[in-house]
Formats: sequence, structure tokens, C-alpha cells
Amino acid sequence: MVNVPTERHLKLYFPNGDVVLSASIDSDAAPAGPPRCQLFRVHKFLLMHHSTAFTNMFEDATAGPNESYDGVPIVKMEGDNAEDLAQLLNYLYNPTEMTFKRFDPNTPLVVSGVIRLADKYCIESLREHLIKAVVSDWPTTLDEWDAFQAEIEAVKKRIRLTWHRKPPSEWEYLCDHVPEPASVIVFAQEFGCHQILPAAFSQLMLISPNNYWESEWRDVELVARWSLLDKDALRRYMMGADRVLAYHPLPHQLLSDECTLLTEEGVLDIEAIEQSPCGIFSKLLLDKVWARRRHDGTKIDPLNLLEKCIEYGQSPERHSIPGSFCVRCDITIFRRISSMREHLWANLPDYFQLQVDVSELR
Ligand SMILES: [Zn+2]
Repeated sequence: MVNVPTERHLKLYFPNGDVVLSASIDSDAAPAGPPRCQLFRVHKFLLMHHSTAFTNMFEDATAGPNESYDGVPIVKMEGDNAEDLAQLLNYLYNPTEMTFKRFDPNTPLVVSGVIRLADKYCIESLREHLIKAVVSDWPTTLDEWDAFQAEIEAVKKRIRLTWHRKPPSEWEYLCDHVPEPASVIVFAQEFGCHQILPAAFSQLMLISPNNYWESEWRDVELVARWSLLDKDALRRYMMGADRVLAYHPLPHQLLSDECTLLTEEGVLDIEAIEQSPCGIFSKLLLDKVWARRRHDGTKIDPLNLLEKCIEYGQSPERHSIPGSFCVRCDITIFRRISSMREHLWANLPDYFQLQVDVSELR
């Protein structure tokens, strides 16, 4: 049966195993030379304990003509990649070893093949474990999104402050320490963890299409594996980014109820608001904060801009804007901005046309 070059797996070839599994070594992993197979000598009991699919496979193999290798039956794992199978078997033998570095941008790519195998062999616990490893790097609530952005800023700062005292061989690059959105979008769409898509598309929205994964920007800026995205994902990205980046609050939205002037008919009196001290200040504040976006062309998340509106109330720059809010508007702006941010966050699935249960995003 084994008529191609084979090699025994260094770790997963147990002398007392009672079956040998043979899987092809991916040509990407071993580009030179003829196709090769990797052999795993394992214990049927353990595999059958985790998977009815393995149980059925071994029963079928026992019923048919039995080929053997090294004194035990050998089963060719049709269509399975040796590297993925090694990860699957390692999980079954050494579950505590299957950990992933937080924020590793390669995790979605590394685990996708194993998850497909876990699906094929009905090993739900492995599937859940691996999906969780990817999902846990991504925010699903606004609070988590804020913490995520703060952490990325902290990584940028650490790299900036430490690179000069390290030799080039030890330089760290931003893209190696931050989750990458395009690969996770592909991952979430394939494996149905849609709750991370709003954050992934929002993160992608902040990255220039010029900043592709292999570009030199990877050293210092956020980059994305743009080429992984299919037409549908690119369409959602473009539509959503257009709509989210165009978000601009109106001056009256920052005002307290008392300063939200109404006409006799009870509708917003825009003209009166525009001429009121709080209305004038609100407009100047929004113009000042939103102007950040236009100066250098960088894309700034409107969630971040809204947050800046609160910070302006406390920053020295605040005095560069003439006028001020009245006491009531000063008190209520936190609540107003907070609810506007919540509203914007809750609408991200709509903006990017995603099928997400909104209750998962709170
Ligand atoms: Zn006011």
C-alpha cells in the first residue's frame, strides 16, 4: 500500500500503538522531490474514544483486506494533510499543549485545516477549542473593542520605544503582534463565528488597501492579507467602510434636553439651535474633531472620534474652541456620546450587511 516515500512522525509514532495512519505531506511544506507520506502510529482506543467517525473507519478497515506496516494495520487518510492530522492527533494526546499566542495574526490560517479535519471526524471539542482560539482575539462588544484598540496602541508604543536598543535581528514588527482582519473574515465566514465579523470589518476599514501583508508597511503600520478576500467580502468592506467613515453627528445630538430647542410644533428648531451658545459650540467642537480625519487622509474610526469629543472637554485644546457648553450640556455629553457610540456599534452589522445576532454584540 505504501509505495511513496514515507517518514515516521517524530513525536506521534508510539511503539505500542496498534494502528498506523498515513497522510500526505503537503507539497507547500515539502516543495522539492516526489510526494511523501507521514506515518503516525497511534492507539485506536484513544481515537475511537473521541470520534465515532474513527470507530466506523477502523471497523470498516477490519472488515476489509488488512494491509499492515511495522506489524500493525495501516490506514491511508485520504485527503488529509499530514500537518493538520499531526495537530489533530497532538490535541488528542496532549490537549494542554494546544495553546496559541494571543493576537497571533497567523492563528486563523494555522488552525483552519485542523478544524476541517475535526469536522470530518466529528471531534466537536477540538473544533470548539480552535474556533475559540481565534474568536477570543476579537472583540464582540463595544467595551471589548475599546480595550482592543487600546491594546493595539500599547503594542505600537512598545515597539516604537524599544526598537532602537535592539539589533535588527531582534526587531519586532507591528503586524506580528496584532490580529489580522482579512484572514479572520475568511475564517469567520467558513466556520460560522459571525459575531466577530463587525469588529474584523471595522478593523479592516482602518487599513489602507496599499498596506498589503507583504508590503514594507508591515514594519510600522497595520496591514491586511487583502488577497484572501473574495468579491463578496470586498463588496461588504467597501459598502460598510463608505457608510461608517461618512458618519458625522449633527450638533444638536450632543446637547442636553434643555438645549435641544423645539419649535411650537414640537419638532427640532435647527435654526434656533444653530444660533444658541451650546449649538454653536457643539458645531465647532465636531468640526474640530472631525477635521483630524481630513488632514493626513488616515481613516479614523468614528467611534474613536466620538470618544475624542469627550476628551476635548478636558484637554488643553479645548480652549482653542471659543465658547463652551452650559453646565447641563457639560454633564450630559458623556451620556450622549456614550449612547451614540453604542448605537453606531450596534449598527455595524447593517453597515457591512452582515448576518449577526445583535444581542451577541452588547
Ligand atoms: Zn447647553
